[in-house]
Amino acid sequence: MKKLILFFLPLWLLAEAHIFVLHRVDDFRYPTTDISSKLLEKDIKYLLKNNYKIVKLSTLVKRMENNQSIDKYVVFTIDDSFKSFYKNGLPVFRKYHIPFTLFVYTESADKHYGDYMSWKQLKDTAKYGELGVHSYAHPHLAKLSNKQIIEDTQKAINSFKKHLGYVPDMYAYPYGEYDKRVKKIINRYFDIICNQNAGAVNNQTPLNDIDRIAITGDVNIARKLKIGILNVKNLQIKRNNNDIKEISGYIKYPYAYIYITKLGWKRIKTDNGYFDYKPDFNLKKYRNRVIIRYNNKIKTKLILKEE
Ligand SMILES: [Zn+2]
Repeated sequence: MKKLILFFLPLWLLAEAHIFVLHRVDDFRYPTTDISSKLLEKDIKYLLKNNYKIVKLSTLVKRMENNQSIDKYVVFTIDDSFKSFYKNGLPVFRKYHIPFTLFVYTESADKHYGDYMSWKQLKDTAKYGELGVHSYAHPHLAKLSNKQIIEDTQKAINSFKKHLGYVPDMYAYPYGEYDKRVKKIINRYFDIICNQNAGAVNNQTPLNDIDRIAITGDVNIARKLKIGILNVKNLQIKRNNNDIKEISGYIKYPYAYIYITKLGWKRIKTDNGYFDYKPDFNLKKYRNRVIIRYNNKIKTKLILKEE
């Protein structure tokens, strides 16, 4: 009987893929957003040796849409279109014929900012991977009015049209920052939206809220690949302005660890899967993460401080 049930379960639907995000390559002035090209090459070699399939984001998304297996699929995304990627990162991807998805900070190309790629370089880069939109002016979107968000997005779209003749259907939030309002507006223009909440993806992941795992510094890619999805039912984060009052939900485990930025981890026992954590914590930073973890499975939520 058990075998029969297993046979009918579409197990591959539970398979999880990993989407990484990187920024600068060999730009040691910025250690928190940099990865060395040597380490990047080491990671790619590891993935290839261990039979991971490295694809563009659009390829992964198509498989998710068609309910095809995404087991052992990996995507590299690059935010901000830094010149250091063009100079030091692109050669690594080219050497191994690995595609990637680069999210363009459009204003930097329009206004020829020194650290960033030109439209000519972006056009060249697109031959080996694909491009997505990373806003026009790289603003903190949640701090803007609806009108300002729309204006920024329109400018990015127009710039793409003007310089490349097309508009990608993929967007990554600047700083990974968004809330319900921001998401609703960006979703009018783009179907595929990436955040920067650490986590894996599976065939049930909504395409307008795709988690990505940052890789910087001395990252251990094997460890990052072990990150899995923690299914949290009815996750609620109750806040009174900037006080986090209560975090509750259901998981199928006896306990969980819950993290809040600047507060740290706390082990919480569940009651038949239900957890109810009352940290009564006043947010210290503008951008905060709540992470719920059981072993390697995690669920990350972004919380922005009201200013
Ligand atoms: Zn960015």
